[in-house]
Amino acid sequence: MQDFDWSGANRRADGFLWALQQRRHLLTAVACAALLAACGGSDDGDAQVPPPTVSQSATATLAVLETTDLHFNVRSYDYFKLAEDKTYGFERTATLIRQARKEFANTLLVDNGDTIQGTALADYEAEVKPIPCSQQLSMYKAMGALSFDAGTLGNHEFNYGLPFLNQVLGGGLNVDGVDAGQKCAGNGYPAVLANVYSSKTQKPLVQPYAVLERTLVARGSDGKEVKLPIKIGVIGFTTPGIMNWDKRFLEGKVYTEGAVESAQKYLPELRAKGADVVVALLHGGMDGSAYSATMENPGLHLSKVAGIDAMVMGHQHSVFPDLSAKPAYSQAGVDNQAGTVNGVPAVMASSWGKALGVIQLPLQWDGKKWSVVKTGSKSELRNIQNKDAAGSAVFVDADPAIAPLIETQHQAAISYVKTPIGSTDFRMSTLFADVGDPGAIQIVNQAQQAYVANYIKSSLPQYANLPVLSVSAPFKSGFQGGKDFTDVAAGPMAIYNAADLYLYPNTVYAVKVNGADVKDWLEAAAQRFNQIDVNKTTEQQLISIFPGYNFDMFTTADMQYEIDVTQPKGSRIKNLSYLGKPIDKAQEFIIATNNYRATSGASFIPKLNGSSTIWASPDANRDVVIEYVRKNPQITRAVNGAAKSWRFAKVTTAGPVIFSSGVDAMSVAQAAALTGVSLSAADDGSGKGMAKYQIDFSK
Ligand code: MN
Ligand code: MG
Repeated sequence: MQDFDWSGANRRADGFLWALQQRRHLLTAVACAALLAACGGSDDGDAQVPPPTVSQSATATLAVLETTDLHFNVRSYDYFKLAEDKTYGFERTATLIRQARKEFANTLLVDNGDTIQGTALADYEAEVKPIPCSQQLSMYKAMGALSFDAGTLGNHEFNYGLPFLNQVLGGGLNVDGVDAGQKCAGNGYPAVLANVYSSKTQKPLVQPYAVLERTLVARGSDGKEVKLPIKIGVIGFTTPGIMNWDKRFLEGKVYTEGAVESAQKYLPELRAKGADVVVALLHGGMDGSAYSATMENPGLHLSKVAGIDAMVMGHQHSVFPDLSAKPAYSQAGVDNQAGTVNGVPAVMASSWGKALGVIQLPLQWDGKKWSVVKTGSKSELRNIQNKDAAGSAVFVDADPAIAPLIETQHQAAISYVKTPIGSTDFRMSTLFADVGDPGAIQIVNQAQQAYVANYIKSSLPQYANLPVLSVSAPFKSGFQGGKDFTDVAAGPMAIYNAADLYLYPNTVYAVKVNGADVKDWLEAAAQRFNQIDVNKTTEQQLISIFPGYNFDMFTTADMQYEIDVTQPKGSRIKNLSYLGKPIDKAQEFIIATNNYRATSGASFIPKLNGSSTIWASPDANRDVVIEYVRKNPQITRAVNGAAKSWRFAKVTTAGPVIFSSGVDAMSVAQAAALTGVSLSAADDGSGKGMAKYQIDFSK
C-alpha cells in the first residue's frame, strides 16, 4: 500500500482516495508532456492502476501492524537511570515497521493506545511545560514519521484530563469543560473509540470507527498484479476502568459502555458503510471470567461478536500469540499456534515498543468486494530484542530518523528529572535490608498503602472495613556486587531517584488474604536465609540463593514478627502479631503489592495466582512512590525509615554468621540502629566489590 501518497496532508480517515490518485495521474501526464524523455517508460506504478472495478477474482495479503502501550517511550532511554536501554523504545519498533512495509505490499499500521503517558518526557509535555496547541506531542511526532493509519485510546490517554486530550488529538471533543472549537496540531491519524461517550451529547467522545479507503496491491486470477480499492473499517474499545482510575477528570463528563455492547451497536453500521475488512483495536486483553460491561480485559468475549476480522489487543502489556512452554494466555478459545482467539486472528504486542505485532490477513476479491480468509491468517510478534547464534542479546537498530525529531524535548525532560521533588534527612539504602534496616523499603510500603487505601475508600466500599497493609522487598540487594544496592544519599531527592527506590516497572496490585496467608507469605519470603546451625563453630553464610526481590516484608508497627533462622524453611516466622495481638488466622487483610506477586506468586501462597486480586491498578509502583514523595516532600528517618516489622529471633550461635554488603558501610548499619552488625572483613573475597559483615543474633 505504498503505491501512492499514504503520508502527510493527503491522508484522511474517510474520503475516497481514487480522486487523489486520478489527480496524480493528471499531474504525471502534465509533467511527461514537459519532460518526455524522463517519462518514456510505463513502469510508473500509478500509470498502470486499473479502474476500481475489476471483475476477475484476485487475492492479496493485508499485514496489520500493531504497536500498543508505547507509553511515550519514543527513545530507547531510561529517564530514571539517565541511560540508554535498548530493550524498548519506538525508535527501534520504527525499524521493524519499515522492514514490514518492505516485506508486505499492503500494510495497515495501527496503535492500540496507552500512547501519551508513561515516561518523564510524557509528564514534561503534559504537566511541567505543556506542549502548545500548535505542536504535536513528541510521541505523536515520532509516530508521524511512520504514518499511522489509525489508533485507539487506552486508559492512560485520560490521565491528564479531557482538555489536554482534546488538544493533543487536535480538537473536536464535545464534552463538558472542553473548548470544542479548539483546533490544534493533533495526533496525525484518526483516533477511534466506540465505548466512551460524552455525557453532554450522549454521543461517542471521538468517532467510534473509521472507514479507511485504500488501494491494495493484489494478484489477479491471471497471475498479474492488479491494484484494487478496499475499505478497511477500524473500531476501538478501551477499558471501562477509566471511570475509576481518572474519576476526578471523567465523573459526570463521560460514561462507558461494555466493548461487546458497543461492538454489537457499531459493527453493523460499519459493515453497512461498506467496510470489506474490520479490525478491532481493543485496549484490553483476555480474562477467562464471565462477561460484564465493566470488565477490563474482554478480548475472549469481543472476539465472538460477529463482524470482526482481526483483533489487536493490549493493556495487559503481555504477548499474543505466545509459543513458549507457559503461554501468557491459555483460556478456552485461545489458539497460540494459529494466533487466533475464537477463530479471530489476533495479536498483542507487549509494551513500550518492545515488539511489533503482525497479523497477515489473506484477502479474497470476488469481483466487487474483499473478504477475509480467516483460516489462512498468521499472527506473530517481531521483537526488538533477539538472540544471535551464540545466544547473546542483539537489538534491532534504532531508526535514525526518530531521535532528531524530539531531541530538544528529550533533553528538556532529562533536565526535568534531575529537579528535586523533596529531600531526605537520611541515606535511604538496602545495604542492610536483609538484616533489618527498612530505610529504603518503608517509603515504598507507605506509598503503596496510601494509594490502595485511597482507592478502596473511593471505589471499593465493600472492602472499606478491612485493614490495608503493604509489602515490598529489597529489589537491589547485592546480587550484581557492591554497587547493586538502592542507595539514595541524604539531601535533595530528584524524580530519577524514585527508580532507585523502585527498580522494576511493576504496577500496584491489591490482594485480599487472611491471617493464615500472611504467615505463609512471610514464611516463603524468609527463604532469603540459610538455616543456621547454632552449634557450628565455623563461619556460616546467612543469605541463601533465594532472590532479594522476593524477600517481601512489612514495615509498620502494626504488623510484628520474628524470623528464626535456626529453623527449617516454613517454620521460621515467630510471634506474628497484628495490633499487638497474635494474628487471627481468619482475619482478612488487603495487601498492596505488585502485579508480579499478585498474579504469579503461587509459590508464596497458592492464591497469589490472580484469584485474590481485588484491584489491578493501572499505575506503576514507581509513579506511586514519586507522587507520595511529592505530597510528603520532607522524608525523615523517624517517619519514613525506622518502622521495623521484623527482627531476628534471639539466639546465640557458637560460630560467626556472616553476610556480604557494600564496602565501607558500617555507618549505614549504625544509623539504622542494627546493634548486632559488625564489620568482619573490608573485602569479602568475591571480587565483586563487597565487604564481609557479621551478625550476632543475641544482640
Ligand atoms: Mn498500558
Ligand atoms: Mg492500559
